[in-house]
Amino acid sequence: GAAPPLLKVRNLEGWYGPSHVLHGVDFDVPAGEVVTLLGRNGAGKTTILRAIMGVLGRRAGSVRMNGMELIDLPSRLIARRGIGYCPEERGIFASLSVRENLELPPVIGPGGRSTGQVLDLFPNLRARLNSGGTRLSGGEQQMLAIGRILRTGARLLLLDEPTEGLAPVIVQEIGRVIAQLKRDGFTVLLVEQNFRFAETIADRHYIVEQGRVIDMVPNAALEAKREQLHGYLAI
Ligand code: ATP
Repeated sequence: GAAPPLLKVRNLEGWYGPSHVLHGVDFDVPAGEVVTLLGRNGAGKTTILRAIMGVLGRRAGSVRMNGMELIDLPSRLIARRGIGYCPEERGIFASLSVRENLELPPVIGPGGRSTGQVLDLFPNLRARLNSGGTRLSGGEQQMLAIGRILRTGARLLLLDEPTEGLAPVIVQEIGRVIAQLKRDGFTVLLVEQNFRFAETIADRHYIVEQGRVIDMVPNAALEAKREQLHGYLAI
């Protein structure tokens, strides 16, 4: 039969304090695919990434990576399984240089990019290596945030709205890099508000509404479901 998915999420629940936000989320991320979570503001997309990564106070259900259950592991051990997380706020440290930001996270396994390889992928960063991390433009900070997880050896990348607030030419650049990472064998789970961007790079889309996944649309079936999708996303 088909290969098992790299990441298998079943009946995932999540809470912020007493507030129950995820109500049984189910989806698969096949190895080597770019998969998006789409949905309106507040649907729960960011919370799904946090729950996978173990940085949500309380979560329940099942998150399996290569068949191994992660739901009860602390986040540093989840990262060790090969998951790299770029949060929406990017997490660049103002008091550190670009190089220090890049080299901060521990390398977790083989296959991590060297600093030089990251700079080949994001040439803009090369001239800025000794600048302060937050002196970078938004696009450069996003590239730094992605480059940082590539150094660790993570094979599954969780990217939360990497294009948010960026100029169209930078969005294109981020798209080019994600396509390159896919060709290099990385698997990407992407939260996106920018559907026009998502459809240019993704293999499949999951629609998130009120803390659940309510539909899956293969990118190849997009045309047939376009109207329905626009309805889900209110675009
Ligand atoms: P957005 O694009 O607006 O970030 P999202 O789909 O990523 O949307 P989440 O950020 O996951 O949505 O939010 C899901 C729900 O959880 C929303 O109702 C939101 O108000 C609530 N929520 C988010 N963060 C917190 C928090 N720190 N404390 C309490 N509730 C929160």
